Amino acid sequence: MAAIPIDGTALARTLREGFRDRVTALAAAGHQPGLAVLLVGGDPASQVYVRNKVNACAAAGLLSERISLPADTGPEVLLARIRELNADPRIHGILVQLPLPRHFDETAVLDAVAPDKDVDGFHPENVGALVQGRARFIPCTPYGVLRMLEHAGVNPAGQEAVVIGRSNIVGKPMALLLTARDATVTVCHSRTRDLRCHTRRADLLVVATGRPRMVTGDMLKPGAVVIDVGINRGADGKLCGDVDYESCREVASRITPVPGGVGPMTITMLLENTIVAAERRAGIRS
Ligand code: NDP
Repeated sequence: MAAIPIDGTALARTLREGFRDRVTALAAAGHQPGLAVLLVGGDPASQVYVRNKVNACAAAGLLSERISLPADTGPEVLLARIRELNADPRIHGILVQLPLPRHFDETAVLDAVAPDKDVDGFHPENVGALVQGRARFIPCTPYGVLRMLEHAGVNPAGQEAVVIGRSNIVGKPMALLLTARDATVTVCHSRTRDLRCHTRRADLLVVATGRPRMVTGDMLKPGAVVIDVGINRGADGKLCGDVDYESCREVASRITPVPGGVGPMTITMLLENTIVAAERRAGIRS
């Protein structure tokens, strides 16, 4: 029997509707949530991501400020803009769109964002808090995955979970969050010797590699829950994930599509984190 898809678009819509009252209450109290998005250079994919984030803010009643800087911007200029935003009371969340041009030290840039405005959850202070199980901001993509699992009634406790990918923004925080929810977690990466032997025993498989359709149905345990984080654009211009949807849906019990899976949830959790930051500033949340 074919797997039941987990519809990220529908869940994102429901969650965003739920934000409306919180945003209205904050705005009435003089704390309209505000997100600043910094983009350096003209990478087309980044421009699309930034536009989607700014549009999502507007639709949810958040203030958004898009700051576009030319590709040859010096690191000091970007750091100075971040310091201004750190001090700006209208701004509750700051996002630096990655990747930055090569002459930037990404770590130094991300470290410059004030931890209480770090709605991506990438600042080392926030990463440390996440490791200790007392996260202030959960990184948006793995946070979105958790909410999808919750919505689909999938409880990670006691399950064999396999995460393919160990990036700071997806794989590592995903593994930490699943561990905190009592899954037994294996992290695989490009040096993993026998990937299939790990995926074949996964009750829950999260794939975040950037390798189009690399996980195929024959690599799955029957009945597995499969979460595809990947977003790849094929030569035909169409989006596809890191999972081969057609073969995997024949073996899995639940599966996320691409597009329409994790992608819309990532932006939704960015809105959620920005609203939370504003609620903290307003003193209605710790
Ligand atoms: P990175 O390139 O930073 O990390 C990719 C990871 O996959 C690395 O850990 C790498 O291993 C591992 N990997 C690569 N090839 C293989 C392989 N053949 N077998 C096993 N592991 C492999 O990517 P990100 O984590 O930033 O993103 C991953 C994917 O998720 C991309 O498609 C990206 O576009 C997408 N994405 C989607 C988001 C969304 O909102 N849906 C948000 C963020 C990302 P190693 O560490 O050894 O190099």
